[in-house]
Amino acid sequence: MSTVYGPVPSWRLRRSLGIDVLLPPKKCTFNCVYCQLGKTRMHVSGPEMLSEPLVDANRVAGDLDGVLKRLDLDSVEIVTFSGTGEPTLNLGLGKIAKEVKRRVSSVPLAILANSSLFHRREIRKNLSWFDLIVAKLDAGDEETFRLINRPADKKIDVETIGDSIKELKKNG
Ligand code: SF4
Repeated sequence: MSTVYGPVPSWRLRRSLGIDVLLPPKKCTFNCVYCQLGKTRMHVSGPEMLSEPLVDANRVAGDLDGVLKRLDLDSVEIVTFSGTGEPTLNLGLGKIAKEVKRRVSSVPLAILANSSLFHRREIRKNLSWFDLIVAKLDAGDEETFRLINRPADKKIDVETIGDSIKELKKNG
């Protein structure tokens, strides 16, 4: 299975080439009621709880090189990291983004993240490679947040997520 897919049309991000840094089964810190991927199979509070090694920069670079042999890069408006769960769970995200950036040069990099791990410094550092971070926060109160997102980490709360998004923005 390739870690690179598309390009796909996206109403928010236009013509987007996708990068999946997780691959199935779905791995996420949330189990959102509306998730289009269905139930979270590996529902974890952080990267350390994942037992299998995740895809690394070499794997993504190899897949991308293969795709770029047949694809005109001028037809791609953005490269978007999302895929089978929460991409920030991959601690190699920064290295992967660096390799992707080397290959797509001026095409901007975006990531769709659920914001649950932004309070961790190493995760924020990985995100510094991205031109656009789409940071999710579905609710402004605890009860609704837990009902919608069903986080694996019972300690994570709306205030922590809100503060860490602000921190990311401040240093971004
Ligand atoms: S954060 Fe995203 S991938 Fe995770 S369960 Fe929610 S909608 Fe699905």
